[in-house]
Amino acid sequence: MSRTSLSVVTDSVTARAPSKVNLHLGVGPRRDDGYHDLVTVFQALSLHDDIRVARANELSVTVRGEGAGSVPADASNLAARAAQALAGWADRAGYVAIGIEKTIPVAGGMAGGSADAAGALVALAHLWKLDISRDELAEIAAGLGSDVPFALHGNTALGTGRGEQLMQVLSRGEFHWVLALAREGLSTPAVYKELDRLRDTRSGDVDEEGDFLRSPDDLMQALASGDPRAVAPLLHNDLQPAALSLQPTLRRTLRAGVDAGALNGIVSGSGPTCAFLCADEQSAVNVAAELSGAGVARAVRTASGPAPGTRVLGTD
Ligand code: ATP
Repeated sequence: MSRTSLSVVTDSVTARAPSKVNLHLGVGPRRDDGYHDLVTVFQALSLHDDIRVARANELSVTVRGEGAGSVPADASNLAARAAQALAGWADRAGYVAIGIEKTIPVAGGMAGGSADAAGALVALAHLWKLDISRDELAEIAAGLGSDVPFALHGNTALGTGRGEQLMQVLSRGEFHWVLALAREGLSTPAVYKELDRLRDTRSGDVDEEGDFLRSPDDLMQALASGDPRAVAPLLHNDLQPAALSLQPTLRRTLRAGVDAGALNGIVSGSGPTCAFLCADEQSAVNVAAELSGAGVARAVRTASGPAPGTRVLGTD
């Protein structure tokens, strides 16, 4: 359709939002309100979702790609909730058509829903030409979910509180990852509940030291060195025993990745995606090929990090 007006009207904006892996995830004891304090080091990965927002007369959501069938295509979608929150901030109607192209596994511990929320925030702020600072956007993001501020931020960051209070971490160079996607997702609340149960009964290989919220200084030094061989042995996830307890076959996946030549493997966040840190890009390609053939995952992907935070890709 040709446009004759001289003023340029943007009808749609597409944003790209990264996934994440937690290089360190320390989980404090369950608080009285049911939440857990966290100390975590996030790294944003190149595996991403693209979120397109277009002017419309009502709110709608369409989802395509990886796991689309298990993502709600209604107002409960995190991207739709982000649109409503931003519309509330801007005091305007949140009528917009949201199109999500997923490559981040759903319920995979890689913060896919959070990425979609961050994508909607960034794309809509651009579409609506809002005069909103990055800090204000981050505050709205934190109200949507504890991983949303990091999806906005990207790169490598230390997260405290529920993971929403961020500090940039110096990370030199590029790290190469292999991701083993599981056949079935894991619900994040169920994994926290299992961690509480394991801690209460002190069973499994759950960490009993109690120093859950220590600062991961060694890891941060290793990241600054840029040496994956220094980073690999410091990967740590307090949720891993709980994820393994709920999906015991993940032990085999973790072993297979290391047998295939990865430096180390870890359950990503609440799982069940397993993330393997590799020495370099070629090693990641080799590990991915071997893992694909081992039959321990639904799908295998390579990714690199740190990736940038959510950003506008283009407008129409
Ligand atoms: P995290 O790592 O932050 O714990 P996750 O990556 O394990 O999250 P998500 O992919 O964010 O999990 O999905 C969690 C649940 O949220 C899904 O089961 C889905 O029903 C719901 N959901 C709502 N909106 C979205 C969205 N845009 N994309 C994916 N899931 C969504």
